[in-house]
Amino acid sequence: MSVCMKRCVFLDRDGIVNVRAIPGYIETWDDFELLPHFPEMLRQVRAMGFVAVIITNQRGVARGIMTREAVDRIHANLRALLQAEHGLELLDVMVCPHEKVSCDCRKPQPKMLLDAAARHNIDLAASWMIGDTESDIEAGRRAGCRTILVSDEPSDTVATQRVASMRDLALKIKDILAE
Ligand SMILES: [Mg+2]
Repeated sequence: MSVCMKRCVFLDRDGIVNVRAIPGYIETWDDFELLPHFPEMLRQVRAMGFVAVIITNQRGVARGIMTREAVDRIHANLRALLQAEHGLELLDVMVCPHEKVSCDCRKPQPKMLLDAAARHNIDLAASWMIGDTESDIEAGRRAGCRTILVSDEPSDTVATQRVASMRDLALKIKDILAE
């Protein structure tokens, strides 16, 4: 690994950073509820020397349910909140606003991770993707990252690691990243 390359933890958003909207979409900041163990998990990620980038599919934009500006506003608020209340930084937030069939960036495709890596000089082989669905894991795997599935459902996964909950992840992330 080149000394100037960054190690990154890529984060799915809904179900990892915040409570998922089921059914539907997080349309405004009022709908956005941070998961209680996320800040502690991110603190440990940062303390281990990793940057953090959110990688999120937001198909509601293509469906006209919310605007891209509304999504960007949520992310600006999130970054300001993490900074003000926890002193924590997100390096970037990558959004796919497209429908399933009409783009080359929607997870499980790895393009958002690859674009973030090119933009920020990230070493993908030294990086991780964390998500709560197999499509997150697939995107991370295709980008050449190791992966962590956060799920208590007894599903098959190709993830490198699996934890049952965000609480579990906050407890184990330091050991996992130290591997
Ligand atoms: Mg998710």
